[in-house]
Amino acid sequence: MSHRATLIPGDGVGPELVDSARVAVEATGVRVEWDVQTAGLSVTEREGTPLPERVLESIRGTGVALKGPLGTPAGFRSVNVALRVALDLYASVRPCRWYPGVRSRYEGVDVVVVRETTEGSYTGIELEQGAPETGELLGFIERTTGTHVRSDSGLSIKAVSEGASERIARFAFALAKTHGRRKVTAGHKANIMKYTDGLFLETARRVALEYPDVPFEDRIIDNLTMQLVQRPADYDVLVLPNLYGDILSELCAGLVGGLGVAPGANHGEGCAVFEATHGTAPRYRGLGRANPMALMLSGAMMLRHLGETAAGDRLEAAVAEVIAEGRDVTHDLKPTRDDPTAATTSRVRDAVVARLVA
Ligand code: NAD
Repeated sequence: MSHRATLIPGDGVGPELVDSARVAVEATGVRVEWDVQTAGLSVTEREGTPLPERVLESIRGTGVALKGPLGTPAGFRSVNVALRVALDLYASVRPCRWYPGVRSRYEGVDVVVVRETTEGSYTGIELEQGAPETGELLGFIERTTGTHVRSDSGLSIKAVSEGASERIARFAFALAKTHGRRKVTAGHKANIMKYTDGLFLETARRVALEYPDVPFEDRIIDNLTMQLVQRPADYDVLVLPNLYGDILSELCAGLVGGLGVAPGANHGEGCAVFEATHGTAPRYRGLGRANPMALMLSGAMMLRHLGETAAGDRLEAAVAEVIAEGRDVTHDLKPTRDDPTAATTSRVRDAVVARLVA
């Protein structure tokens, strides 16, 4: 059986990493018919937008995409946020798993960050300092809340809904249940932001009642951040509002070896986009130095999503073996960044593929 999937090479190091991930996915023996769709900086001048409608149509059609990182050209709204909004990709899942051989402060960390990605203080509802609408809104805020905000302020609006909080909480509990995870922890600042984070927490608590066999707890976000750094083994599935999820997923990636080994997925009702946590890493573009493993591991997540669980497991195991052996890994996984024995992107690809076809 063959699957269809959209392939978005992306910007910066994207094309070389996506190509490695594609080759590794194919080396599992699973047949995938790729619909290659370019997006981002490389198409903006020609098509007038970094996210042409054809890209969205392709993903709606295939239901699945493997995506490289995208840069946002000046004057445009974040292309990654736009993609999530257009496809209603509301749940970002970022597994942060330690693989033997990775030098890290801790061994055995295995945390899954589930981040709400459609609302909160990340969606770009912003008003510029000095604009007439900003002044109007500042006046309105003062009249209705009694809070004085300085007139030379810019404004960013954080909206949190019960509906979006409910579906992300349900997603996190369902994930925990399906994967036999230990517990779900919600991170929030409900003590200060009662009507937004408070609503998020209250909703998560209500959803938790529907999953009596999955233990639930909550932590104030600053405390959770400190505890993750001190005792990451205490945590399992984290469910977080948008901005906290963005920050903590990189913190957790840092706990398990960095962005080179941090995969991810963005899930909506009808489609899913698989991509690494990292961005375009422009300084490595074209140098063959970037680590393709995060995108390969995203490819493994995609295979499982397509029902090809054994193939996804084999791809992850092949990556883990290459890491454990320690020879064919890029500079980020070597003892020092300037290690002369660091492998190139293509050497890592070949080492992973060799294990899959052996
Ligand atoms: P980045 O993730 O691209 O890079 C941060 C640092 O992490 C790099 O300097 C590099 O040292 C390291 N790194 C990242 N990927 C690596 C890899 N595969 N192998 C080895 N080291 C790696 O973050 P940034 O510099 O903040 O962002 C660069 C651009 O990427 C920005 O335009 C940003 O908007 C975009 N971005 C896109 C996405 C996405 O498409 N989902 C996500 C984040 C950032």
